[in-house]
Amino acid sequence: MVKCANLAVVLRGKIKSLKWIPACAGMTKGNMKCPICYHQDTKVIDSRVATDGLSIRRRRECLKCNFRFSTYEEMEILDLTIIKRDGHKEIYSREKVSRGLRRALEKRPLAEESFRKLIGLIERDLQALRKEEVGSDQLGEIVLKRLKEVDQVAYIRFASVYQSFADVNDFQQALSKMAEKS
Ligand SMILES: [Zn+2]
Repeated sequence: MVKCANLAVVLRGKIKSLKWIPACAGMTKGNMKCPICYHQDTKVIDSRVATDGLSIRRRRECLKCNFRFSTYEEMEILDLTIIKRDGHKEIYSREKVSRGLRRALEKRPLAEESFRKLIGLIERDLQALRKEEVGSDQLGEIVLKRLKEVDQVAYIRFASVYQSFADVNDFQQALSKMAEKS
């Protein structure tokens, strides 16, 4: 029997709240199918909460072929609408925020786990607003605030890109508001 422990399959689970079900490594039979043989029964052999407390990584093993793989479970913001400056609305997309951040963080030394944590904190700030609609200015402000804590160079890059898209006054207002808070 070949075990390919290095081959990780990352799947994103959907959970709507921050409460975690206690980990029960070795006991839980999940209905997550094996990615190799599609067997229905896989067992969780290890389960750990990431240092940020916002995601869980589970190590699973197929009960038929013994293939081992990992799954990630993290919060997903559902049904949040972003209102653009021109009034146009669009559904919040983690993809888009991640893309912008990755561009800003290009060649910067930020570990993948820290990146995930950054996204987690940004989304937590968004959820803390308890709104169904959030202005793109406010989103930009949150991203800038969190990015500033992590990487100054990326912060300046993101700010300059953000500025080229934004009305200059809007951007400066955002910055001065940030300065007041810090
Ligand atoms: Zn299998």
